[in-house]
This record gives sequence, C-alpha cells and structure tokens, in this order.
Amino acid sequence: MQLKDKVIIITGGCQGLGRAMGEYLAAKGARLALVDLNQEKLDEAVAACKAAGVDARAYLCNVANEEQVTHMVAQVAEDFGAINGLVNNAGILRDGLTIKVKDGEMTKMSLAQWQAVIDVNLTGVFLCTREVAAKMIELKNEGAIVNISSISRAGNMGQANYSAAKAGVAADTVVWAKELARYGIRVAGVAPGFIETDMVASMKPEALEKMTSGIPLKRLGKPMEIAHSVAYILENDYFTGRVLELDGGLRM
Ligand code: NAD
Repeated sequence: MQLKDKVIIITGGCQGLGRAMGEYLAAKGARLALVDLNQEKLDEAVAACKAAGVDARAYLCNVANEEQVTHMVAQVAEDFGAINGLVNNAGILRDGLTIKVKDGEMTKMSLAQWQAVIDVNLTGVFLCTREVAAKMIELKNEGAIVNISSISRAGNMGQANYSAAKAGVAADTVVWAKELARYGIRVAGVAPGFIETDMVASMKPEALEKMTSGIPLKRLGKPMEIAHSVAYILENDYFTGRVLELDGGLRM
C-alpha cells in the first residue's frame, strides 16, 4: 500500500511511540487520525503532523469504551471519506507482583490494576479492530492493521496483566489476519523491547539500568525505529499474520 494520501488511525497518538508514528507516516504523505485522551497533547501532535503538509485531525476517545470507539470510527470515515490503516498503539502499565510478601505483610495485584490493563491493552485493541475492519469492508477500502504488542508477551515478572494483554494481542493478530485476509485486509504486529518513551522512563532507574545492560545492542530503542517498522508493515502488501520483534536482540 502506498502511504501517500492514505488515511491511518493511530490510537495513543499524542505522545511516545504513537506520536513518532504519526510524524513518520505524515512524512510519507499519509493523512492521520490521532486518537487519545488528552486534547491539548493531541492538538500538539496534530500540528506536528500538519507541519509535513498533510491533513491530520484529533479524536478524543477512550479505546476501552465501545460507544466511543464506534463513534470515533464513524467520525473518521465521515471526515476523511476512507480508512486505510489502524495502528492499535494505546496502552497503559499498572505493574505489581501478583503476590508480594514483605516483612510478613502480603500485597496482591488488585483486580482494578488487572482489569484496567486488560480493558485498554486488550479489549481496546479488539474494539478498534472490530469497528475499523467493518468500516474498511463497508467502504471497500484497501487496508492494514498494525497491533503494538510487546516482548513482555513472553512473560515479565510484575506484569501479569500487561503480559497477558500483550500475548493476547499477538494471538489475536493471527486470528484477525486469518479472518480478514478474504477481504484483502492485512493484520500484523510489532513487539517492541525497551524504547525511549515516558512509559519506560517511569521504570525504576535501577531496573532500567539492569535492563539496558542486558540488551545485546546495549541501548534502548528509539521511537522512530518502531515507527519505521509500522510503516514497513503498512506498505508491504505480502506481510500479514506475523509479529515483528524489535528489541535490540534482547530475546535472541
Ligand atoms: P505512552 O504512555 O508514552 O503512550 C501511550 C498513549 O496511549 C498515551 O498518549 C495515552 O494517553 C494513550 N492511552 C492510554 N490509555 C488510553 C485509552 N484508554 N484510550 C486512548 N488512548 C489511551 O506509551 P508508549 O511507550 O508510547 O507505548 C505505546 C505502546 O507501545 C503501548 O501499547 C505500549 O504497551 C507499547 N510498548 C511500549 C514499549 C516501550 O518501551 N515504550 C515497549 C513495548 C511495548
């Protein structure tokens, strides 16, 4: 798929990886629908895309809310007249050991912590994919969907919620690639390792340092390196049903 003039929705598009993806795709001439929770940051991200000379618009929407997602997708289709791509990038962390015993005191990951991550990182991906795929089929648009998983899908301590969601996203990438191939819609994923964004900056410094020293390439990834892979998937018409791991060799 040639990205010039194509309409791409990016969830979690106002900062971090989502913002880098918007700018990268804008430089290739794509028209962008940026979806997030913060109007001010969305406006800044939209302005950064528009600086590349393309149309870009902001959509306030909680990806975990069915009604809001349905409305957002209909609005994007109405505003742009087409939808050619979706990047399911919005995500949150609510880390905690499932059970932690310290000084005889036991703490457990709360159901709220568990549910919040499942709602945004897994249910949100399901809802956006379902609505966007339906609209692509209805409009007979050429289309591709990119899901942002994580190397945490292999199982990270303290991330029972996040690892489950990201493994689910990787599995459903295959499910949806199989289901949607007959409509010419491709679905693939990117599983980043540790990338320089606010999400990683919120890790404890000791944990981050230990993590970086264990990466064979001895550095964190850059948001534009993830954006580059998202563009590769959108552009490559023979790529579907696979999740690319970009982790500096961490999981070799
Ligand atoms: P980030 O926290 O900087 O950005 C995430 C964005 O998602 C934010 O703008 C946030 O407002 C938005 N968001 C959160 N909940 C939302 C909701 N309910 N509806 C709409 N938007 C919502 O994170 P990031 O580092 O840029 O990560 C982006 C994606 O990449 C996430 O899915 C994350 O799990 C994944 N990831 C990141 C890394 C990394 O190292 N940064 C590694 C692996 C995977």
